[in-house]
Amino acid sequence: MKRVVKKNVKTSRPAKIPKYVYFFGDGKAEGNAEMKNLLGGKGANLAEMVNLGIPVPPGFTITTEVCTLYYKNNKKYPPELKPQVEAALAKVEKIMGRRFGDPNNPLLVSVRSGARSSMPGMMETVLNIGLTTKTIPGLIKKTNNERFVYDAYRRLLMMYSDVVMEKAAGIEPEEGQNIRHKLEHAMDILKKDKGYKSDTDLTVDDLKMLCEEFKIIIKHTLGKEFPDDPHEQLWGAIGAVFQSWMGKRAVSYRKIEKIPDDWGTAVNVQAMVFGNTGDNSATGVAFTRNPATGENMFFGEWLPNAQGEDVVAGIRTPNPVNRAGKTEDTRHLPSLEEAMPKLYKELLSIRNKLERHFTDMQDIEFTIEDGRLWMLQTRTGKRNGQAAIRMAVEMAKSKLITKETAVLRVKPEQLDELLHPSVAPVAEKKATLLAKGLPAGPGGAVGRIVFTADDAEAWAKRGEKVILVRNETSPEDVHGMHAAEAILTARGGMTSHAALVARGWGKCCIVGCSDLNIDLNKKEIHVNGRILKEGDWITLNGTAGRVYEGKLDLLPADPEHNPWYKELMKWADQFRTLKVRTNADTPEDALTARNFGAEGIGLCRTEHMFFAPDRIKAVREMILSDTTEERKNALKKLLPMQKGDFIGIFEAMNGLPVTIRLLDPPLHEFLPQTDEELMTLAAEMGVSFEHLKAKNKSLHEFNPMLGHRGCRLGITYPEIYEMQVQAIMEAACELVKKKVKVIPEIMIPLVAHINELQNMRDLVVSTAERVISNYKVKVNYKVGTMIELPRACVIADEIAQVADFFSFGTNDLTQTVYGLSRDDAGRFLPFYIENGILKEDPFISIDQNGVGSLMKMAVEKGRKVKKDLKLGICGEHGGDPKSVEFCHNIGLDYVSCSPYRVPIARFAAAQSQLRSKKSK
Ligand code: PEP
Ligand code: MG
Repeated sequence: MKRVVKKNVKTSRPAKIPKYVYFFGDGKAEGNAEMKNLLGGKGANLAEMVNLGIPVPPGFTITTEVCTLYYKNNKKYPPELKPQVEAALAKVEKIMGRRFGDPNNPLLVSVRSGARSSMPGMMETVLNIGLTTKTIPGLIKKTNNERFVYDAYRRLLMMYSDVVMEKAAGIEPEEGQNIRHKLEHAMDILKKDKGYKSDTDLTVDDLKMLCEEFKIIIKHTLGKEFPDDPHEQLWGAIGAVFQSWMGKRAVSYRKIEKIPDDWGTAVNVQAMVFGNTGDNSATGVAFTRNPATGENMFFGEWLPNAQGEDVVAGIRTPNPVNRAGKTEDTRHLPSLEEAMPKLYKELLSIRNKLERHFTDMQDIEFTIEDGRLWMLQTRTGKRNGQAAIRMAVEMAKSKLITKETAVLRVKPEQLDELLHPSVAPVAEKKATLLAKGLPAGPGGAVGRIVFTADDAEAWAKRGEKVILVRNETSPEDVHGMHAAEAILTARGGMTSHAALVARGWGKCCIVGCSDLNIDLNKKEIHVNGRILKEGDWITLNGTAGRVYEGKLDLLPADPEHNPWYKELMKWADQFRTLKVRTNADTPEDALTARNFGAEGIGLCRTEHMFFAPDRIKAVREMILSDTTEERKNALKKLLPMQKGDFIGIFEAMNGLPVTIRLLDPPLHEFLPQTDEELMTLAAEMGVSFEHLKAKNKSLHEFNPMLGHRGCRLGITYPEIYEMQVQAIMEAACELVKKKVKVIPEIMIPLVAHINELQNMRDLVVSTAERVISNYKVKVNYKVGTMIELPRACVIADEIAQVADFFSFGTNDLTQTVYGLSRDDAGRFLPFYIENGILKEDPFISIDQNGVGSLMKMAVEKGRKVKKDLKLGICGEHGGDPKSVEFCHNIGLDYVSCSPYRVPIARFAAAQSQLRSKKSK
């Protein structure tokens, strides 16, 4: 073979200069929607809109990489950044025909954050950057609108001092003492003195005076002058956005939403366009479909002569964007459709273009400056569960997306919202209506009033149900909003912070409830002649926007009357291969689960039947018996009751498989706790109290979870399991005689050794065959085992030889693999999770690396011996979407979970199948 001898040639290729700034504007953008990781969601979509020919003010995006480098290098920028920013700014200046800092024709810019995934309001924005004492006269001359310029200046003073000079500087004043509050207070006083109702009543002279006062307050409060240099303002704002990535509220939001800290945020610098230059200008926020109901209707809010923050912050009550969006309360307000019909049409066509392009509901921001429409943002809109389901189904039906995409798009938790309660109409009719507001988050909620986010969190931690009541919420409140049952605000519209955040979480929420007069100092609400105090109970109907005094009944959710939900679930069932059963111990639970779509019972815990008041005595007699004879006598009493239970359950499941587990828990769980109970029992059993007490004590175990329980009971007291099998099989035979189909699957718990299972299987089979031959019918039954101990996983090939099926008991398996007590882990697990030692509670979501590896081993070993061994899971994990996916991937036949989680498991199973198909 010929060898290619490489000559030692020196390559003189220059080192590549890293690109930190991406320009967009005038129909061309350096980025696109695919570049979200680098440009953040906002930056990538601004670029995409420019590429689509949609009018967007020119600007540039500083990449998320810069944010990561900034934190890596002790809050220093890479040296290449400054020249790249200057070059991009020059391009913006050229397109706009204005220069940054030019006294005659100044360019103003906005500086906004934009992370990969949207974090509404969690990070900072500064508008009107570039306004200084030198540029103010130039802008006045250019716009011929002195009032507008001073209004823009007072907004800059407010935002900049708050975001850059206070928050980014790490100053944390007490509640109500921050600079923003102080400036707002000064403005409120001026408005009150002059008898003004709205900000727009302020005159030029008022605003000039206010700006001077603001500067004094800023200097006095923060000990620093407001910067009068445009470049200092620009870099101050860029730095503040990067700083806000590590701000308290952004960090806590990321924790809740599980967004990694190292993603970083991008910064978007963009030419300002103004919605507040006069009556020919406006600003608005809209959704391409209704985000609360999912209806295919352009839905939004706008304000004439205003800047974006006015709509979002809820300072002024916004108008509906079109006629269709008007409600009883907003009927009198002019819509954009009526006020500016041509521009509305243009906006509507952009709405259609965006939805078609992104094939999902978009949340957009727009500004109209002197009759010209500009788009400031588009992003995938947050929606509640109900809306998510309706949109997905309607989009698939109109062929905008496929059915597969529709199923993949709805999150299993969003289905859960649909399964949430609402206020009972009967109770609502009789209740005292306190006030009405805007229905921002549907569903019903009952809770006690708290006024601060910290209180909401603290009260909820103590187990209280609370409703957070605020004038308006801010991103600083997210932790309390998350902890509360519901959120109620006196101000704000459907796109206010509270509405947006609550909707994202599917939480009940009412905003703009203007009748509430909140006195934060006294912790009281004055509302329509009544006074409510902290801790008082209220009820919210978030679907209708109604607030009631007291605690009203809530009704469970009714998904069966939701046609979109039903359609989506139909599609999900067509896609999924994994079956879904339920854990149910009573005929009622079995029926509920069947209505939710359960395809069998995966776990019937027979011990739950033993706790019924009419049985517990017989159970105690059985446990405390001294001889087998006595025990058999007690069991005789239990037999007909158990048989009755099984008949009910088999009938409810009507031919679907029913897995019944024989007695499992440590016996002491059934024993009397008090001397009084013992005394009564002793009298009934005809033995002395002392004798019974001693017996009771002798049953004490140091470690009951690892003690005399599970099949160990069946082995030592075979008559117990014998009675249970007899009850199951007699029930089955009687129903078969009546032509009811039954499929009993008898399950042995806590097996660790093949001999245990062999022994128990022999007992089950001989008892079952005896019953069957007595009844002279044919019943197909199976005998299987729980796999819930590590040893069982390791020797699953041996166990499979004597088992017709395996059902993973991941509660006990997690307990024993981790060495974590199910009963005591609550003392330290939350600490582990809060401090990042564990990412998740392994009792909620399967620990895939540890417990999951053993499950996988058991599946492989079991199926090697028996190809068609039926495999399922009945631990709590069976209803957790991530665990369901894991079970699908390792090849289980079914998951089993509590009745209310059945739809979520069905849905998660469909998504698992679609995702695994996609990845193949
Ligand atoms: C299990 O251990 O996962 C299980 C389902 O059984 P139990 O919770 O009753 O112990
Ligand atoms: Mg168990």
